[in-house]
Amino acid sequence: MSETEVMPVDTSTRTIPTVGYAAYAASEDLAPFKFDRREPLAHDVLIEILYCGVCHSDLHCIRNDWGISMFPLVPGHEIVGRVTRTGDHVTKFKAGDTVGVGVFVDSCRECESCKEGLEQYCEKGAVLTYSAFEKDGKTVTYGGYSRQIVCDEKYVLRISDGLPLEKVAPLLCAGITTWSPLRHWKVKAGDKVAVIGLGGLGHMAVKFAVSFGADVTVLSTSASKEKDALRLGAHHFALTNDEEQVKSLTNQFNFILDTVAGTHDYNFYLNMLKRDGTMVGVGLPNEPAHVPAFTLALQRRNMAGSIIGGIAETQEMLDYCAAHQITADVEVINISDINKAFERMEKSDVKYRFVIDLASL
Ligand code: NAP
Ligand code: ZN
Ligand code: ZN
Repeated sequence: MSETEVMPVDTSTRTIPTVGYAAYAASEDLAPFKFDRREPLAHDVLIEILYCGVCHSDLHCIRNDWGISMFPLVPGHEIVGRVTRTGDHVTKFKAGDTVGVGVFVDSCRECESCKEGLEQYCEKGAVLTYSAFEKDGKTVTYGGYSRQIVCDEKYVLRISDGLPLEKVAPLLCAGITTWSPLRHWKVKAGDKVAVIGLGGLGHMAVKFAVSFGADVTVLSTSASKEKDALRLGAHHFALTNDEEQVKSLTNQFNFILDTVAGTHDYNFYLNMLKRDGTMVGVGLPNEPAHVPAFTLALQRRNMAGSIIGGIAETQEMLDYCAAHQITADVEVINISDINKAFERMEKSDVKYRFVIDLASL
């Protein structure tokens, strides 16, 4: 080959050096971390990350609460950014588009759940946005506490520019995780709904349930959140550690959404369901739930769980939010303040989602 001839470029081996914040080991503070993203393949988009929400799952993973974390771990799965480059076969997006990435970046695409657009329940396991292996079985995923991300367009969401983007970022996890069960269990106008825990997920659940016309009660351990609960649209508030305030709540609700991150007494809340009512757990504490059979049997109560949502329903939720001007209430932080934000999250002191401004990285 002469000196003037150009070698064909093998993009599969080229990488994009980037930077983020990582926990280098379980429960360690996050610190700057340099790593590589792959060059966009034919169906990939390269995204410059503008904002990333801080989910309690990020904290569970940093602590390795669920025993599945890989370190160094770059958290973040509430990602909003701009497309800067697209692979040759990308059809949904072009450079400059505002987009989002949520909790998973790939799935098998062949199982029943994937075919039904419920990729979060992929039988082979959806590829999580961070601390997971890509389908090649060896490349580790890194999340949105970083400058850029590369993702197959099939797992990228369209974001309206009509809403403030820092308030949209939490919709990619907190939004869809609460939207999906409210829709699946068909919560409707007039239903009596309770939301346990007024945090990132809980405050989105209140907004959605109110917007569907339900009669909404917040069940909280923080007296200081009563005013906010009502401002967010809830009709009632009960402090769960005050016996007086909860004694009238037995057999009251058609539907309860449990967003609690820590150990708690499921039975206490299940007793608040009416006959045939359903309580759905989206909070993911690592302690198992202890539920007496009689609590369920005596009023034919249901207890279920739910995980995030599929790509199609996430897009539906984002479009609904754009049409109804629904966004998260956020505290925007610099990435250097992330460890302080986690300390506050542990104390249930979040109003109501921290969002990292990646311009601070
Ligand atoms: P968050 O912002 O920290 O909010 C959790 C809220 O729960 C707290 O603000 C607090 O609200 C309440 N709470 C905390 N500990 C409690 C306890 N021991 N007993 C009773 N209430 C308690 O967390 P988040 O980001 O909303 O996430 C909540 C949970 O959902 C986490 O476990 C997270 O991993 C999980 N999650 C699940 C999915 C899914 O797909 N299923 C998706 C995202 C997150 P009050 O002050 O009002 O009591
Ligand atoms: Zn999350
Ligand atoms: Zn699948």
